[in-house]
Amino acid sequence: MVQIAENSSFLMGEKKHAILQKLPGVDRLLNLLERRPGMEEIPRSVLVRSVRNVLEGVRREILERDGNVKSDLCSEERLLSMAEKAAYKAMSHNLRRVINATGVIVHTNLGRSLLPPSVAKHLVEVSSRYSNLEFDLEKGTRGSRYSCVENLLCELTGVESALVVNNNAAAVLLVLDTLAKGKEVIVSRGELIEIGGSFRIPDVMAWSGAHLVEVGTTNRTHIRDYEQAISDQTALLMKVHTSNYSLVGFTAEVPLRKLVDLGAKYDIPVINDLGSGNLIDLSEYGLQKEPTVKETVSAGAHVITFSGDKMLGGPQAGIILGKKNLIDQIKKNPLNRALRIDKMTLAALEGVLRIYREEDRAVSQIPTLQMLTLPLRTINARALRLRNRLKKLGESRLKILRINASSRVGGGALPLQDLPSRCIGIKVDGISVNAVETFMRMFKPPIIGRIEDDTFIMDLRTIQEEEIPIIAAAVERMLKDL
Ligand SMILES: *Cc1c(COP(=O)(O)O)cnc(C)c1O
Repeated sequence: MVQIAENSSFLMGEKKHAILQKLPGVDRLLNLLERRPGMEEIPRSVLVRSVRNVLEGVRREILERDGNVKSDLCSEERLLSMAEKAAYKAMSHNLRRVINATGVIVHTNLGRSLLPPSVAKHLVEVSSRYSNLEFDLEKGTRGSRYSCVENLLCELTGVESALVVNNNAAAVLLVLDTLAKGKEVIVSRGELIEIGGSFRIPDVMAWSGAHLVEVGTTNRTHIRDYEQAISDQTALLMKVHTSNYSLVGFTAEVPLRKLVDLGAKYDIPVINDLGSGNLIDLSEYGLQKEPTVKETVSAGAHVITFSGDKMLGGPQAGIILGKKNLIDQIKKNPLNRALRIDKMTLAALEGVLRIYREEDRAVSQIPTLQMLTLPLRTINARALRLRNRLKKLGESRLKILRINASSRVGGGALPLQDLPSRCIGIKVDGISVNAVETFMRMFKPPIIGRIEDDTFIMDLRTIQEEEIPIIAAAVERMLKDL
């Protein structure tokens, strides 16, 4: 044991030096740590690193403290338990599953979209075995890694040609770089948006080497604004989905068809960054009307870009659709190779697109769509199940509330869409709501909810059926531990 100031738990600043000298050495602590149960499974290098980090941290803490230092700050027991925690942490995956109780479906911080289990299974098979990634099995010759996904995209949207890249930001960059480098691109001021994670249309434009020509005003842009800005330097007319914000009130935007007509008059292609990109019309399921990808293709956009992992509900990817001559040019851009997707993404995207061949299957099997269209009665039944589970814990300290709330689409899609939902809120006598939130967030698996009105709230729309018992177990554990 480190024997420091047994009688007083505080020492004056000038005694810091003495405390530092009495800290156990790396070897001693390591020796003790190695004898703890469970530590034999952990590589020695990880234990050494954990011990070093803990000692260094404590040393720094002592030095940085003004005035008094508690002597138990460096008790051997405390140091050991810190090193043990650090070792376990180093051994566990940093990226792991969490329970999304936020009610935000396409939650960018929580991984946006979930793959359907059948697709995930195929992904494991394809990525843990050799595959025909660039091999044509029928001809026995080299094949294209993209052809299958491209054919599916053409089949589903009626477009002439398609291409996939790493994400939609890459898609926009690649399109601008290929078709507008050194030339002008006309965009409405109402569509110069910023998406989370610092994707800004003017910045992407600058990176691509295209020159942005802003037209109209923030709230109103007319076709004549575009027409007046056209010059012999104009390479593209660009329309951008405003995604995460909405213009309401005295507003005017130019419909895609009109822009296409104007483009045809001057022989200038029109590109449309759709952001989310819906392959099916969700207004048939009670959501706000958004132009589908198919409708955008029929409206005549020459190039269309959207994300694979927003409303589409697939893996992270950027999808580029368009006229064959333009897509062929984009495919030849050397940047394309730098932005290409890997075989795992390709396998997942193919799997999800195949499901879209039947709309009913898409809505029931693709988690993003399934959660978007979940009937309120199903959510309500889930809320009741969770409530009953929690009630069964028989804890008088636990207050369980059933709350009507709205889920959100997230991912910068349909910002004004109201999705009526049911939440379960919990409060625990004697435990602060912040402590409840932290406990749930640190649980294995972490349960991510939100705090409102001094209550920890969980939205049942984004909680999967099989996660209900896990949440109940977490609350039970919390009542024991806190
Ligand atoms: C989300 C979004 C992007 C970026 O897409 P990522 O797939 O996140 O790279 C670009 N443009 C619009 C309009 C968007 O909504």
